[in-house]
Amino acid sequence: MNLEAKSGYANRAVIGGLDKYVARWVSQCLPGHDFSISCPQLKTLLLSPPAYAERSIDERQKWVVLVLQGLKKPKPGPVASGSLDKPVADVKGVGQTIAIRLSRLGIVSIRDLLYFFPRRFMDFSLRRTVSALETGKEQTVFVDVWEARQVMLGRMKSTEAVLGDETGNVRAVWFNQPWVAKQLKVNAKVALSGRVGEFNYMKVFENPEWEVVDDKELLHTGRMVPVYPLTGGLFPRQVRAVVRNALDGYLGSLPEFLPSPVRQRCGLMDLQDAVMQAHYPLDYASQNKARRRLAFDELFLLQLGVLSKKRDWQEEQPGRGFQIEQKDISGFIEALPFKLTSAQVRVIDEICRDLGRDVPMSRLLQGDVGSGKTVVATVALLAAVTNGCQGALMAPTEILAEQHFSTLYRLLSAISAVSSRESNIYTFKGIMRRDIKVALLTGSLAAGDKSRTHGLIRRGAVDIVVGTHALVQREVKFAGLGLAVIDEQHRFGVLQRSALKQKGYNPHLLVMTATPIPRTLALTLFGDLDISTIDEMPAGRQVIKTRWLKPEDRRRAYNLIRKQAGEGYQSFIICPLIEESESLEAKAAVAEYKRLSGEVFPDLRLGLLHGRMKNADKEAVMHAFRDGALDILVSTSVVEVGIDVPKATVMLVEAADQFGLSQLHQFRGRVGRGESQSYCMLMSENPSEYGQERLRAIEELTDGFALAEKDLELRGPGEFFGTRQSGLPDLKMARLSDTHLLEMARREAGILFEKDPGFIAAENELLAREYHRIWRKSIENN
Ligand code: ADP
Ligand code: MG
Repeated sequence: MNLEAKSGYANRAVIGGLDKYVARWVSQCLPGHDFSISCPQLKTLLLSPPAYAERSIDERQKWVVLVLQGLKKPKPGPVASGSLDKPVADVKGVGQTIAIRLSRLGIVSIRDLLYFFPRRFMDFSLRRTVSALETGKEQTVFVDVWEARQVMLGRMKSTEAVLGDETGNVRAVWFNQPWVAKQLKVNAKVALSGRVGEFNYMKVFENPEWEVVDDKELLHTGRMVPVYPLTGGLFPRQVRAVVRNALDGYLGSLPEFLPSPVRQRCGLMDLQDAVMQAHYPLDYASQNKARRRLAFDELFLLQLGVLSKKRDWQEEQPGRGFQIEQKDISGFIEALPFKLTSAQVRVIDEICRDLGRDVPMSRLLQGDVGSGKTVVATVALLAAVTNGCQGALMAPTEILAEQHFSTLYRLLSAISAVSSRESNIYTFKGIMRRDIKVALLTGSLAAGDKSRTHGLIRRGAVDIVVGTHALVQREVKFAGLGLAVIDEQHRFGVLQRSALKQKGYNPHLLVMTATPIPRTLALTLFGDLDISTIDEMPAGRQVIKTRWLKPEDRRRAYNLIRKQAGEGYQSFIICPLIEESESLEAKAAVAEYKRLSGEVFPDLRLGLLHGRMKNADKEAVMHAFRDGALDILVSTSVVEVGIDVPKATVMLVEAADQFGLSQLHQFRGRVGRGESQSYCMLMSENPSEYGQERLRAIEELTDGFALAEKDLELRGPGEFFGTRQSGLPDLKMARLSDTHLLEMARREAGILFEKDPGFIAAENELLAREYHRIWRKSIENN
C-alpha cells in the first residue's frame, strides 16, 4: 500500500488490481471464517465496486489511506484483561476436582466464573440479638458456641448445638450433617442465618447457614447470600468461596468496555461494580441495578452484531431487484382453491415490494401454525422464477421438506396445464409462459438422483429447490439463486442462514417461523431482519378443545384415543420433558412406549420417536405415522415442529406443566390440521404455581401471539427462544419484562453504529474486543 502511495496511486503496485489483492489477503487472514462477524474491521478494507482501476486518483488515495489506517497495529489496551482468559484452576481454592465440576457448568475461564451469576439470594441481612429473634423470619445472630455435639435425630446422624449472646441462648440443629459438630469449637464466635422456629419454648434454627466470624468478610451469613445453580458434587459453600476468590483476585482486570457517554445516558452502573453487586449485593435495589447493567450489555452487544450483519447484507453489495408482474401474481392467487386472508395479502405485498428493490430482502415472516405461510413463500418463489432466477426453500427435517415439496406441487398444479414427476423432480408446463421444474433435495436421496439434481441446479435447469441442510452442502452450486426461503427459523442457526444466502450473489432472503415472537424481542434478536406478520387465521379453522387433566382422568383420555383410533383417527402422546439429559428422556420414552403398547393399547399400532434415534429412523417413523400406518405416536418433544398429519386429532401431553407455553402451543398445532374436531389433553399431576398458570393460559388462549407474550412474562427470553440454538450470544441476565432496557439498547446500538460501524474509533476499542469475544464464542458454540 505504501508503494502504491509513493507511485501516486497509479495502480502499479501489484499486478491484477490492488483491490483484489487486498481482498485475497483479507480472506486468507481468516480462512473459513465469516470475517464479517469475527473481524468486521477487516471487512471495511474491502473496496466495493467500481474497481480500483476505474476510480479517480482522489478516490484511490482515500481508500489506500483508509486501508493503511486499518492495518495499524492495535494499541495495547489500558488494562491487561488477558488474565481473565486463564483457566479457572488459577483461582485460589479451585483444585482439579472443582475445576472439572465447574467445567460441567460451562465454566472454563476465570471470566466465566465471574459471569456465573446466582440464581437467587437469601436475604440474611436482618441482624438480631437472640432475645429479639422472631419466629418464622429469616434472621442472623452473632453468637458464641456453648456446646455442640453429634446426635441422632430420627434415623439421621445430626448436629445439635446451643449458642448464645449477652441477651440469651438459642438452639440450632443440622439434620444429617454430623460433621458440623466437629467444626463448631466451643467458645468460637459464629454467625447463624436462617429461619427461626420454636420447640419446647426455645427458639431453634433449623439447618441454618453458619460461619465462623473472624476478620474476614462474611460469605454465607449476615447479608444477601447468593444461591448459585449447582451441579452434582459442588457444594454451595464451595462455590461461594471460589467465586469470592475470583472476584477478589481478578475483578480489577475486568475492563469497562462501554463508552462512558452510553453509560451516562442510560444511567448504568460501571462494570466492575455491577459484577460485584450481582454476586454479593448490598441489597435488592443494588442487585437490581447490577442486573440492569449486565442485561444492557447483553442486549447491546447482541444488537450491535445484528446491525453489522444487516449492513453486510444490505448495504455493501447490491442485490437484484425483480420485475414483478402484478397479473402473474393475481393469476396465481385466483387459481388457488381458497381465498387468501387479508393478512396474507398484506404480507405478500410487503414481500413483493422488497423483492422489487436492488437492496436484497432480509425478512422474517412470522405466523401461527396453520396461518398459511407456505402460500406466501410460493408467491415469492414464483416471482424469482419469472425473473429467470432460481429459488430455494430450506426446511429443518426431511419430512418437512417433503411436506413443502408436496404443498408446492398442489399449489402449482392449480395454475399449471400439465404436470409430471420424474423421481425427485416435478415439471409444470405452462406456468407464466414457461415450464417450471421443482426439485426435492434431501440427504436420503439415492446417490444418482442427488448428483443428477446437483448437475441440474448448477446448469440452472431446476427453478425451485426444496430441501434440508443438503441445500447448503459444498456440492450444491446454483446457477443463479435469487431467493432463499428458510422455514422454521429457530432450528437453524444464524450461520446456516448465511450459508444458504452465500449460495447466491446476494439473493433475497425470507425466513419463516411459527414461533411468534413479540415485537420488541423480535427486533432485538432479529434486528437484521424486517418483519412481516400473519396475524389472522384462514376462516373456518376449528378450535381445538384443550383440557387440563388430572391423573384420575387418564382412563378417560385413553378411552378417547381408542375411540378416535376406531374411527380411523390418530393420536400423539408426548412424554415428560427431562431437561438434564436427552438419554434419560429417551429411556423414559422407551419405557412409556412399552407400557402403552403392552398394557394399554395392545390392539393398536404404536410408534416411538425420540431424540436419540438415528435421523433415518426418526424420518421412517414420522412417515409411517403420516401415512396412517400407526394409530399412536409416542414421542418426546422432538415432534414439535411443523409436521402436518390431517388424520391426527388427539394430542396428549404428559407432565404438561414442565413445558413452556410456546412449546405446548406447537404441540397443539400438530392436531386439527384436517376437518374433524380435535383435542389437546394436558396431563399434570402436581403443577407448581407457574405450571398452573401456564396450564390455565393454554386452556384459555388459542392465539399464538398472546401465548408467546404470556410465556415471556413467565420465563426469560433466553429460555423462551433457546438462544443457544439460534447462533446468538447467550442472554443470562436480560428478561423480557425489560422492554425499556431493550429499547434503550437498540437506540444506543443504533447511535454507535451510525458513527462507527466498524468499531474502529479509539474510544470503542475495548467495546470492539468485547464484541468480537462474544460473537466469536457464540459461533464456536454452534
Ligand atoms: P403454516 O403457516 O403453518 O406453514 P401452511 O402454509 O402449511 O401453514 O398452511 C396450512 C394449510 O392451510 C395448508 O393446507 C394451506 O393450503 C391452507 N391454507 C393456506 N392459506 C389458506 C387460506 N387463506 N384459506 C384456507 N386455507 C389456507
Ligand atoms: Mg409450515
